[in-house]
Amino acid sequence: MTSTSSTPAQERRVVTAIPGPKSQELHARKQAAVADGVGNVLPVYVRRAGGGVVEDVDGNHLIDFGSGIAVTSVGASAEAVVREATAQLADFTHTCFMVTPYEGYVKVAEELAALTPGDHAKKSALFNSGAEAVENAVKIARAHTGRQAVVVFDHGYHGRTNLTMALTSKSMPYKHSFGPFAPEVYRVPVAYPYRWLTGPENCAEEAAAQAIDQISKQVGAENVAAIVIEPVLGEGGFIEPAKGFLPRIAEFAKANGIVFVADEIQSGFCRTGQWFACEDEGIVPDLITTAKGIAGGLPLAAVTGRAEIMDAAHAGGLGGTYGGNPVACAGALGAIATMRELDLNAKAKRIEEIMKPRLAKIAENHPAIGDVRGRGAMIAIELVKPGTKEPDAELTGKVAKACHQAGLLILTTGTYGNVIRFLPPLVIGEELLGEGLDVLESAFAELA
Ligand SMILES: *Cc1c(COP(=O)(O)O)cnc(C)c1O
Repeated sequence: MTSTSSTPAQERRVVTAIPGPKSQELHARKQAAVADGVGNVLPVYVRRAGGGVVEDVDGNHLIDFGSGIAVTSVGASAEAVVREATAQLADFTHTCFMVTPYEGYVKVAEELAALTPGDHAKKSALFNSGAEAVENAVKIARAHTGRQAVVVFDHGYHGRTNLTMALTSKSMPYKHSFGPFAPEVYRVPVAYPYRWLTGPENCAEEAAAQAIDQISKQVGAENVAAIVIEPVLGEGGFIEPAKGFLPRIAEFAKANGIVFVADEIQSGFCRTGQWFACEDEGIVPDLITTAKGIAGGLPLAAVTGRAEIMDAAHAGGLGGTYGGNPVACAGALGAIATMRELDLNAKAKRIEEIMKPRLAKIAENHPAIGDVRGRGAMIAIELVKPGTKEPDAELTGKVAKACHQAGLLILTTGTYGNVIRFLPPLVIGEELLGEGLDVLESAFAELA
């Protein structure tokens, strides 16, 4: 594994209550100085992080099954990211690409053209956050089509800015009290196999038919600029749309001159065992949005797509002061090199190979686990009241808390708050991965 000398020891170590006294002291200061709207999953304050471990200020070493929400796939202090970003910092921190450009930005755009699906001519524009990338994909699709409507899906998540709140399906906590939202946004069904009423067998076909019917009859296909979908829905609960659904929607978009946008902000960059999750069904999106895993923890995002669509916006219409910051671009080049060098797609597949059978086995003994799903290192379990599909958010919270106290950092998610998601760094050691699963199993034995 590539690591710097400051990477924490790769072992679980619980030496105080979690959070420990130093974290609690810092947290009291946080409560006084930081707005309450900015919450924390687990208020342990970090000293160092890297590989598969987060080390806190009290000396606890937590096994990392979160990667800062699917960001630090190469680790939180990957050697190449640190080296490239440090060198860039010493040369210059910023000029604004829209004022005087630099090569790093162009190199990232070239990498994106090479790595994203399809061999057509591609161009990119870089931004700071995932939400900003999604907003810009919509701007570009509107400029290209001369249409206004945007179609999104049940359980979708696209960010916290005004337009992306409108595109996001879940009210609490993302939208509640923050309206009014941007207009011309329409939400249609997605093929969620576990919760499809007539069963998973019919899910792809029925969901696609309903979605297409609603778009055609309620919006009018000729009014739609873009269809925006996550190939694996992240915040909605790691929902893999039933096979056949995505190709059907992509075909419909193509037949109707609608820009098909794959939001790969969470699922991209090796997370599912492929560079991009849409490759799984051979889908070639018109535009693809990326962020999170792209730069090893530095803030960077992109819209990449067909050159003729990307060029639809007039000069000066896209950009931003910091978009494609040189240090973030250097970090991205280091992260992408690391993904290639360590073959992190293979690592993600190996993580799936270890996790899924283990989780299936835990589920055999614990009927509260209703579903085990996901691909690569984007895996989840959905918790329900045994014998039903009634979501059990309470148990989900308790399991997460027990894991945290035992030194395993896990995240919950899902429309119903009843999904535990696993997003380990792709460079995590197999022993740590196994130990994390032991901790999870103990938590179920204790609570379920
Ligand atoms: C996280 C996420 C976003 C928003 O990204 P930010 O960098 O938080 O703005 C958008 N879409 C998906 C699928 C995401 O997972």
